[in-house]
Amino acid sequence: MPGHSLAQLRGSNLRAITALLGSAGPQSRADLARGSGLSRTTVSSLVSELLDNGLVVETEDRGTPYKGGSGRPPLLVALALRPGGVAGVDIGHRHIRVAVSDRSARILAEVETQTDADPHGNATLDIAADLVERARTEAGLPLSELLMVGLCVPAPIDRRSARVDQSVLPGWHELAPAEELSRRVGLPVVVDNDANLGAIAEHQHGAGRGTADLLYVKLASGVGAGLVLGGRLHRGSTGLAGEIGHVLAREDGDLCRCGSRGCLETEVSTRHLLALLRPKLGAALDLLGLLALDADGDPTVRSVLTGAGHTAGRVLAGVCTTLNPARIVVGGSLGASPSLVAAIRVGVDRYAHPEAAASCEVVSGRFGGRAELMGSLALAISRAGELA
Ligand SMILES: [Zn+2]
Repeated sequence: MPGHSLAQLRGSNLRAITALLGSAGPQSRADLARGSGLSRTTVSSLVSELLDNGLVVETEDRGTPYKGGSGRPPLLVALALRPGGVAGVDIGHRHIRVAVSDRSARILAEVETQTDADPHGNATLDIAADLVERARTEAGLPLSELLMVGLCVPAPIDRRSARVDQSVLPGWHELAPAEELSRRVGLPVVVDNDANLGAIAEHQHGAGRGTADLLYVKLASGVGAGLVLGGRLHRGSTGLAGEIGHVLAREDGDLCRCGSRGCLETEVSTRHLLALLRPKLGAALDLLGLLALDADGDPTVRSVLTGAGHTAGRVLAGVCTTLNPARIVVGGSLGASPSLVAAIRVGVDRYAHPEAAASCEVVSGRFGGRAELMGSLALAISRAGELA
């Protein structure tokens, strides 16, 4: 129904505006048009609706000195301050991290535990629910003021069924994680995968700020990407957009956990890189050691990371040519490696359309392994704004 999809589009545009205000603070309508990729006319109409609903207010206070030319600074738009906070839950392959923040994403409490999440969906969500309660108590937030939980899982969520793609997370078979966690904590829960939430975090608060077309790539024990197009996250028809970890990178490569062979993830994941380096540098080598040796200029480590960067860059070049993003943000634990990021740049330049490559920056993420937690909070804040 056309009317239905128009309403959906307007809803998603309103979310884009409140999300920008939540992350970047008070802004002019012109700033909002730049940050969202929407026209000035559309932004003005959306801001009017938000003002009418009491979700935003007009202010002259930017919080920081106005950096424009001479003359009167433009009137700014700010989120209306409401009490309450949100929780962000980041479930990784090896950890659960939970933070409670206020509605400007200022973290009030944070707790974490190590666990093997992949084979144990229900038990992992039990622990996550306990951690939400612990973080809420530490934050001193009454239960009635915890409004929403943002949840990150390290696998795609099927948009049709709200269930996890079980091929990459076998212990979560038939689980609908948002529904399950919501039942445990008694609060609304909104869920997304790690790369999408990393993209939201970097776009709103980190190295992707100020651009409407962004490709976030997570390089860690898993590999994936999140796409921000026209200022909004693009999830695809079933939720699989950005699953570049399972794009073919080597014809005769290793068997991947998805069932295919030679996926990008089997070539550049931390597990693969450590397996290549341990015979040369010792069985005790871990990720922190690898990053430290890279920073020291160790030639063996640099050579392996450069090879991985070229491989990742070749896959990203295809995405870059197809989508023409202004920036590629490299996140995850390996995003901190300067050699890897430099080699991705070389790979993109070599294999992408020359002009698409020239107009695309390649930068390290700001949040590294914390992007998923920050993204969970940002998503919860944006959804809580809609319920207000
Ligand atoms: Zn795969």
